[in-house]
Amino acid sequence: MRKKIAILGSTGSIGRQTLEVVDEFPEQFQVVALAAGSNVDLLTEQARRYSPVLVAIMDESKASELARNLAGLNIDVVTGLNGISAAATNRQAETVVTAVSGCTGLVPTLNAIRAGKNIALANKETLVSAGALVTAEAKKHGVSILPVDSEHSAIFQCLERENRAVSRLIITASGGPFRGRSNNELQKVTKTEALQHPNWAMGDKITIDSATMMNKGLEVIEAHWLFGVDWEQISVLVHPQSIIHSMVEYKDGSVLAHLGRPDMRIPIQYALSYPDRAGNTFPKLDLAGKTLSFEEPDLETFPALALAFAAGRRGGTLPAVMNAANEAAVNLFLQEKVSFPEITRLVDQVMSRHTVVDAPNLEQILAADVWAREETLRLGHARKA
Ligand code: NDP
Ligand code: MG
Repeated sequence: MRKKIAILGSTGSIGRQTLEVVDEFPEQFQVVALAAGSNVDLLTEQARRYSPVLVAIMDESKASELARNLAGLNIDVVTGLNGISAAATNRQAETVVTAVSGCTGLVPTLNAIRAGKNIALANKETLVSAGALVTAEAKKHGVSILPVDSEHSAIFQCLERENRAVSRLIITASGGPFRGRSNNELQKVTKTEALQHPNWAMGDKITIDSATMMNKGLEVIEAHWLFGVDWEQISVLVHPQSIIHSMVEYKDGSVLAHLGRPDMRIPIQYALSYPDRAGNTFPKLDLAGKTLSFEEPDLETFPALALAFAAGRRGGTLPAVMNAANEAAVNLFLQEKVSFPEITRLVDQVMSRHTVVDAPNLEQILAADVWAREETLRLGHARKA
C-alpha cells in the first residue's frame, strides 16, 4: 500500500522537492491532495501528472481557470482557506506536508491534526506562532509532527530514544549572504543581494529570513516545541559550509552531528518514510577536500536571533507577534519600501508595543497576528514618509 500524502504549498520550493521525492519512490507514495496560493499553471501541471482527488487554490479568482483546466479528470477543485483546509483534511490523506510559507499554514495544519493526519512540517511559522496549541493538539489526537526543516531533521536523527541525557541542541546556521558584514554595510544592501543565499535555493520569504538570521530565530522556537527542550539548552553555531545540519550534545560530552549535502529532498524523504530509510539516487556527500568551520553568531549585527530567544522565553502571544511583524516587514523590504536593517528594527518595535496575552487560544493568536501586521505596516509607512 502506498502512503497517501497531501501537500500544502505544492508549487513552492519545498512542495516541488516533495514531488521529486514522490517521483523517486513511485511505489511508496501517492499524492491525494495538492494546495497552492495562486500559481494556477504549475498547479494544473502537477494535478494532471499526479492525479490527486482534490486540488485547492487559495486565490479565489483563479479557481474557475483551474477547474476549466482540470475538467473531465475527476479532480475536485476547491478554493480559499477552507479549500486549503479541505486538502489538509482529505479523507484519504495519511500524512500532510505543510509547505506553505508563513502563518497562513496555521489553521489548515491544526485542522489536519484534528483530523488525525501525521504532519511532515516545513511550515515552521505554525510552530512559532502557536507552538503550545499545535503540540497539545498533536498529543491529544495521537499524531506525529515530523520535521522537514533540515536542522530539525538532523536533531531528530541525532536524538537517541533516551533523550534525558541531552545537554544541548546545537542548531547550525550558514550565516546567510551577509555574514561578516558591518551594520553600516547592511544599510545599503539590495533585495537582489539579500535573495542570493550561499548554499540553498528557497522561497523568497525564508531566503530573506536567512539573511537577517530571523530564520535561525524561528528555528530555535521550532526546536523548543518539537523537542520539548528548555531555552537554555538551545544554542546556535554559525557553520558557513552547511554540511553539518545540526548537532546534539549529551551530558557526557559526546556530540552527535548529522551531515549531508544541502539538499532538502533528504529531510523531506526522511519525514515521509520515517522510521524507514530507503536508498535513493540523489547525489551523495563527498567530504574529501572540504573544510568545516564554525563561529559564534554576530548578535549585534543580526539582532533578530536575540529577539526570537526573547519572544520564545516570554511566550504567550509574543512569538506570534514577532512572526507576523517579520512577515509584514519582509514584504515591505521585498517591495523595496524599507531598508534591510529596518526589517529587524520594525519587528523589535512591534514586539515592544504588544501587550502579551498569556496561554492564548487560537482566536487570540490570530488577533495578535493581525494586529502585528497592521502595526508593522503603519510604522513602516510612517518611516518611509
Ligand atoms: P515558497 O515561497 O517557495 O512556496 C510557498 C508555497 O505556499 C507555494 O506553493 C505558494 O503557492 C503557497 N502559498 C503561498 N501563500 C499561500 C496561501 N495564502 N495559501 C495557500 N498556499 C499559499 O516557500 P518555501 O517552499 O521556500 O517554504 C515553505 C515553508 O517551508 C516555509 O514555512 C519555510 O520556512 C519552510 N522551509 C523551507 C525550506 C526551503 O528550503 N525552501 C527549508 C526549511 C523550511 P504559489 O506558488 O501559488 O504562490
Ligand atoms: Mg532550516
